[in-house]
Amino acid sequence: MTPSKTIAAMAVLIALSGCSPKNEPAAPAAAPAAAPSADVFNFKIGALDATALRDGNLEGPNDGKTFGVGRPPSDVAALLKAAGLATDTLKLSLQPLLVRGDGKVLLFDAGAAGISWAPQAGKLIAALRAAGVEPAQVTDIFISHSHGDHVGGLVHPGGVLTFPNATIHMSAPEWTAMKADTQLAAMVPVVTPKVAAFQPGAAILPGLVTAVAVNGHTLGHSAYEIASGPERLLYIGDTAHHFVVSVQKPDWTVAYDGDAPTAQASRRALLKRAADQDLRLYAPHFPFPGVGRVRTQGDGFVWAPE
Ligand SMILES: [Zn+2]
Repeated sequence: MTPSKTIAAMAVLIALSGCSPKNEPAAPAAAPAAAPSADVFNFKIGALDATALRDGNLEGPNDGKTFGVGRPPSDVAALLKAAGLATDTLKLSLQPLLVRGDGKVLLFDAGAAGISWAPQAGKLIAALRAAGVEPAQVTDIFISHSHGDHVGGLVHPGGVLTFPNATIHMSAPEWTAMKADTQLAAMVPVVTPKVAAFQPGAAILPGLVTAVAVNGHTLGHSAYEIASGPERLLYIGDTAHHFVVSVQKPDWTVAYDGDAPTAQASRRALLKRAADQDLRLYAPHFPFPGVGRVRTQGDGFVWAPE
């Protein structure tokens, strides 16, 4: 991470915020993207229009300090090699989810814009516009948890709300934790008027979005079930980070998990339920676009992208 990258990233954001059309008619929010973009992937959830929006990438060394903590890096490397991946680096994608329908424009998580440790991310607004949506059209944002790669994009570097008309939904324990996080101290007063805290597991928009408490990653981490008629999609947040390591070895310790034993139990339970019930999942850190299912494989699971 270099200062020049930070400045360049901030310049892009400032430029994007500066071209927000005050007098131009807004693009219709209900229409999926007309122009193809590598950062946008459209799919359906029943009658709802869903779009994966690429914010960027995160990566870290396979040094035994993030995935498989307490194990030799060769254990993680063996899994990565078997999947045809580089063994020295663990790469994560980052794609918030856009859902349009029922007169709503919903965004699940807000990306990592402005977060210094995520220099390869922060492209969410460009992807959103490529999908035909202006930030001011977003009506509701559902935050899985308050880590920087999920809440960073809520506020511009200048301290202004990125999505000025959106209600920000977050579980009550997560909101309490976010307000106590000194790293987010500048962001908290900006978002406070827009936050609607819910009790874990609440039906937030009945028939459309229901919270699913997934304990352990943070104090109030939440997945979200999105429904349209009989169709369902489960947005899993950071229940599982890596599409190979987290899925095949859900019990291995991950440094990102605040309460690792609880997170490991939650991860295994969710993956088991998903495999047993053939649930359709959306994983914001799996390879873009992150839509698929898991199957049982031995003592673990395997990711089957759509
Ligand atoms: Zn994350």
